[in-house]
Amino acid sequence: YDHAAEAVLPTVYERTTAAAMKAEAINLGQGFPDGEGPQWMRAAAAEAITSDAGPTNQYPPGIGLPVLRDAVAAHQEAHYGITLDPAHQVLFTTGATEGIAASILSFAEPSSEVVAFEPWYDSYGAMVALAGAELRTVPLEAPEFRPDIAGLRAAVTERTSMILLNSPHNPTGAVFTAEEMTEIVAIARQAGAVVMSDEVYEHLTFDAAPHTPVLSVPGAEDTAVAVSSVGKSFSLTGWKVGWVTGSASLVNRVRGVKQFLSFTSAPAYQWATAQGLEDDRGFFAENQQQLQGARDMVMSGLTATGLRPFRPAAGYFILADVSAVTDKTAAEFAAELVEHAGVGAIPVSALTLPSTQQEPDNALNYLLRFAFCKDDEVLERALSRLGKWI
Ligand code: PMP
Ligand code: GLN
Repeated sequence: YDHAAEAVLPTVYERTTAAAMKAEAINLGQGFPDGEGPQWMRAAAAEAITSDAGPTNQYPPGIGLPVLRDAVAAHQEAHYGITLDPAHQVLFTTGATEGIAASILSFAEPSSEVVAFEPWYDSYGAMVALAGAELRTVPLEAPEFRPDIAGLRAAVTERTSMILLNSPHNPTGAVFTAEEMTEIVAIARQAGAVVMSDEVYEHLTFDAAPHTPVLSVPGAEDTAVAVSSVGKSFSLTGWKVGWVTGSASLVNRVRGVKQFLSFTSAPAYQWATAQGLEDDRGFFAENQQQLQGARDMVMSGLTATGLRPFRPAAGYFILADVSAVTDKTAAEFAAELVEHAGVGAIPVSALTLPSTQQEPDNALNYLLRFAFCKDDEVLERALSRLGKWI
């Protein structure tokens, strides 16, 4: 971005949701499930608010409720064999969004460079701009969207202060392999850069694709922080309970910034999230299966319209190439879709640099993102509308 002001305009999610509501369209833009998340976790939150069970409704510790930090550490141990000291290596944040913001404000030095794969989750670009650093990108390319390790090595310089990762990746659905993660961490170490790894889709991989958390990779102990949250893992995107994990010294830096962003937030949601992390009661597997079925249905539905969808290995989204059916960019096509077909979707260009958006030949400008974390009936209606209009 040329100016931080450019980075803080209303997000594409807000704009798409508003356009979809205005046109009374089906919103396959913003990624949030139609469902409500586990009833027993919602009951736990309600109980924490209204009864004497659990925490009070006054300020919880800024670093997070001890039960939540213990549960995050226990979850990482149980799922990945990662051992963390909950007193110093786990920080509660108000959603992954605050963990991302606080990490970038902690480690992206003004005038330094931050390298991310493109497209990225939109808050990365905004926060790098607000930190006064410069974003450099390495494109992910269809059909596999694998991280280009040689490209990353070439993009990293002595001015690089951070590398931003996101696996499983929004919006491509790529899941980085252990080898890829290992190489990325090695590149960061060599450059003296801090890695921030956004792992919010950790429990949403399909076909048994393994998620590799950054902290399981050799060399990451003193180089990387990981960010995750309750939203995607438990279909509770409104709860905004997130956490940052890593070495005591890196986490302590992030804690310093986080205290001036929100200081803390709702104890009831932290309390209930701790219960989910301690024992998901089969929710992760159930949710994966449901989403995988939805992915398969939307893949065939989109293929039938003539669009060219790319099969994601994880997450909430399918990218489709619109150039198979139109000469328009995905942004132009999305504006027509919401208006005429009654379906909202997000152009990937909104998740790229302004300079990328200016390149007529850049393949990223022809990709449209459809969220499939919706009820089957909603997806069927959307696909039928798309089939009729395209
Ligand atoms: N990172 C990625 C890659 C996301 O897709 C999202 C949106 N869910 C977030 C971070 C934000 O997560 P949260 O809602 O926990 O702030
Ligand atoms: N993570 C969601 C998405 O990618 C959106 C979250 C938001 O609206 N900021 O659709």
